[in-house]
Amino acid sequence: MNEKIYDMLIVGGGPGGYTAALYAARAGMSVAVLEKLAAGGQMAESPQIDNYPGLTDGIDGFSLGMQMQAHAEKFGAETHSTEVTGLNLTDKIKTVETDSGIFRGKTVVIATGATPKKLNIPGEADLTGRGVHYCAACDGMFYRNKVVAVVGGGNTAAADALLLSRIAQKVILIHRRDSLRASRVYHKPLMDAENVEFHWNSALTEIRPGEIVINGEENIPCDGVFVAIGRQPETELVKDVLHLDASGYVLAGESTATNIPGVYAVGDVRTKGLRQIITAAADGAVAVHQAEEYLAEV
Ligand code: NAP
Repeated sequence: MNEKIYDMLIVGGGPGGYTAALYAARAGMSVAVLEKLAAGGQMAESPQIDNYPGLTDGIDGFSLGMQMQAHAEKFGAETHSTEVTGLNLTDKIKTVETDSGIFRGKTVVIATGATPKKLNIPGEADLTGRGVHYCAACDGMFYRNKVVAVVGGGNTAAADALLLSRIAQKVILIHRRDSLRASRVYHKPLMDAENVEFHWNSALTEIRPGEIVINGEENIPCDGVFVAIGRQPETELVKDVLHLDASGYVLAGESTATNIPGVYAVGDVRTKGLRQIITAAADGAVAVHQAEEYLAEV
């Protein structure tokens, strides 16, 4: 058992977690980030981030993650490279069990993120980041005047296909049903877009450099694939104590406050309209503001 009682423990070292660490450290709070892999979370897998304001030349996600970690640590935040195995969030002093011991904190920030669901087809893993992507708003700009495919039939796939239709030469929408489940608001603009080609009742079965295979038999030239078949929030550790929405995200509004006082959910793991680096970072700042108010009262 680590004898220290931190003002704030942060589970997850993505942009939400490290922004909370930065704000907490600068507010004079003792704070530790518990991260099992490298800083950056999902962001670390992005080869180029061009939509973070102020970074006019863009930056790769791994470097931005490392910089966010260094920035928080410059002001006194700690990082512990360890896997969190259990949480007790209900007591006034909360405990976080890890494979390197138990940490205790007055507040806890859940910043565990969400992972895009994978197709698990040949080529997907090998080409991720260089032909296979999971975020059109992040990586769509690399495909100006090129041919791209979007897989899925929900709101994300529909919104991605529309966004990409304004950038790419052609968008191939591949869906396993004969109609979209996306909101009706997307249907007409998608049908009206002259450069969107629909492949209904179809499965993407292989991704190769410069080519995709549909239904195991149809080879089509294609420069990039955007997989938009949903996301899986990382809520295994908290699903029994924090309230979740129907899709498994932690129910927390703009305040990031959860159903347990002193426990906050930031970034992609919480219910929100737009999951981006900048919205995760904003959550981190808000959580610390909320935590300061909470600590002043307990
Ligand atoms: P989603 O609604 O769960 O849709 C996932 C889509 O991917 C479905 O069409 C599903 O097919 C398909 N799919 C799932 N697994 C697949 C597989 N293994 N192979 C092929 N296709 C597969 O996920 P989402 O589109 O990411 O949306 C998530 C949530 O965010 C939703 O609540 C959505 O409304 C919301 N959202 C809202 C907006 C907006 O503009 N308001 C934008 C984006 C997201 P089936 O249809 O056959 O199940």
